Amino acid sequence: MSQDAQQTPHRVVVIGSGFGGINVVQSLEKAPVQITLIAKTTHHLFQPLLYQVATGILSEGEIAPPTRLILAKQKNAKVLLGDVEQIDTASKTVVSRIAGSRRRPATVVTTPYDTLVIAAGADQSYFGNDHFSEFAPGMKTIDDALELRGRIVGAFELAEATNDPVEQERALTFVVVGAGPTGVEVAGQIAELAHRTFKGAFKNIDARQARIILLDGAPAVLPPMGKKLGEKAQKHLEKIGVEVRLDAIVVDVDQDGVTYKDKAGALHTIATKCKVWSAGVAASPLGKQLAAQTGVELDRAGRVVVDKDLSVPGHPDIFVVGDMASVPGVPGMAQGAIQGGKHAAKMIKGDFKGEPRKPFKYLDKGSMSTISRFSAVAKVWKFEFSGFIAWVLWLFIHLYYLVGFKNRVTTIFSWLGAFITPGRAQLTITHQQIQARIALLERNAILREQAEAAARGAEENSAAPAAEAAAPKAATN
Ligand SMILES: Cc1cc2nc3c(=O)[nH]c(=O)nc-3n(C[C@H](O)[C@H](O)[C@H](O)COP(=O)(O)OP(=O)(O)OC[C@H]3O[C@@H](n4cnc5c(N)ncnc54)[C@H](O)[C@@H]3O)c2cc1C
Repeated sequence: MSQDAQQTPHRVVVIGSGFGGINVVQSLEKAPVQITLIAKTTHHLFQPLLYQVATGILSEGEIAPPTRLILAKQKNAKVLLGDVEQIDTASKTVVSRIAGSRRRPATVVTTPYDTLVIAAGADQSYFGNDHFSEFAPGMKTIDDALELRGRIVGAFELAEATNDPVEQERALTFVVVGAGPTGVEVAGQIAELAHRTFKGAFKNIDARQARIILLDGAPAVLPPMGKKLGEKAQKHLEKIGVEVRLDAIVVDVDQDGVTYKDKAGALHTIATKCKVWSAGVAASPLGKQLAAQTGVELDRAGRVVVDKDLSVPGHPDIFVVGDMASVPGVPGMAQGAIQGGKHAAKMIKGDFKGEPRKPFKYLDKGSMSTISRFSAVAKVWKFEFSGFIAWVLWLFIHLYYLVGFKNRVTTIFSWLGAFITPGRAQLTITHQQIQARIALLERNAILREQAEAAARGAEENSAAPAAEAAAPKAATN
C-alpha cells in the first residue's frame, strides 16, 4: 500500500463510533490517510453506563458526547451520519442512508474505501424469539435506555393511578432477564429507586412494595466472575430486595408477563408490566453481508471469524474489530474493542512502512459489576474484590474511560447527588419514551412499505418504455 502510487490519499472508512471505531480513528491521527467514520448515531456511546441513564442517575449527554466534537480537531477525519446498509467488497464501497420520513426521501451516500474497518458492534439477541423485544426492551442504545426509564417510572405511576390491587401488583413487579453485569446493575438500581428514591413519593402505593425479580437460565449470577464473586453478588442483591431465580429459562414474554421453565421443567408465569432483557447478544447483521461476499466464517453469535491480525481472511484491506469480531480469548467487552481498534490502526500504519502484519494480543484488564451504591464485585487477573473497595475501583475506571473532561466533571456531580442523597436528577420521562418501541416499529414498517412501493414503481417505469418500444415492432410484424 503506497500513497505515492495514488492520486488521492489512502481512504480509510470506519463503520461505527463505539469503542472500536473511535479508537481506530484516533490512533490514525498522524497517519497519511483520509478517514471517514460512518455511524448511525451522532454520538460515541459509553454503553457500560447505560443502566444509569435508564434509572435516572445520569443524563444521556453525559455518556454519549457527539462524535463530531470528539474528532473536531483531527484534521484527517470526517464524520458521516448514516446507517450502513450495504458493503460492496468488489467495488470497495459502503452505502449508508439517513432515514427519510413520509414526505422526505432518505439521503443515500456511497463512500469508496481503500481500507475498511467494521466496528458495528452487537444487538440484543432474543435467541430466535424476536417478538419478545416489543415487551422486553434490551439495553444497547440511548433510545433503549430512555425507553426503559419511561417504562420503569411509568410502571410506578400506573400503580399509583389504579385502585385495582391485581393491576397494582403487576405494575409493581419488575422482571429483569439475564444475570450478567447489565442485568445485575439494572435490578440493583430498580431496587434502589423503589427503596430510596421513591420512598414516600407516592401516596396511593408504597414504592418499597415493588418486587424486582432477576431471572437467568444459568445456575449462577455473573458466571464469568467465578463462584465466589457470583455468590457474593447474589447475596447482596437479595439483601437489597431483589429476588434471584436461577436455572430459569424464559419461554414466553408478552404484554402481561413473563413465563419461565424451572430446572424441574415446571412452568411459572410472573404477571409484570415492566420487563428488561439483558440476556444475549447477536453481532451486527453487517457480518452476514460480509460473509456472503467474502465467504468468511461467522460464529454462533454472527461474529466474523477474523484472521490473527483482525483482518478478514483473504481480504487484508478489511478489518473487523470489537463485538463484531470473533477472536479466541477476547470477550465482548470494551477493552476487546479498544485494543482491537488500536491494533487495526497499527496494522494500517505498518502497511505504509511495508511492515509485516502482526497477530492481535489481548491484554485482559479484568471485569467488574456494580450491585448497588457502595457495592460492587471486581476480578482483576487472579485478584478478587467485593463491596466498597470494588465499588471505588469501578468508579475510577469508569470515569477514566468516559470521553471528555466536561462529561467527567458533570458525571462526578451527578454521582455525588445520586449516591449521597436519595434523589436522582434524571427521572424525567416523556410520552415518546414510553411509546418509543411501538412507534419505531410502526415507523420502520411504513418506511419499508414506501421503499418497496418505490422499487415496484421504478420497475414498472423501466418496463414501460420497453413495452412501448416493443409495441410498434409487434404492430409492424
Ligand atoms: C448495557 C451494557 C453494559 C456494558 N457494560 C460493560 C462493562 O461494564 N465493561 C465492559 O468492558 N464492557 C461492557 N459492555 C460491552 C461494551 O460496551 C462493548 O463490548 C463495546 O461497546 C463494543 O464496542 P464496539 O465498538 O465493538 O461496538 P459498539 O460500542 O456497540 O459500537 C457500535 C457502533 O456501530 C454503529 N453501528 C452499528 N450498526 C451500524 C450500521 N449498520 N451503520 C452505521 N453504524 C452502525 C453504532 O451506532 C455504534 O456507533 C456493556 C455493553 C452494554 C450493552
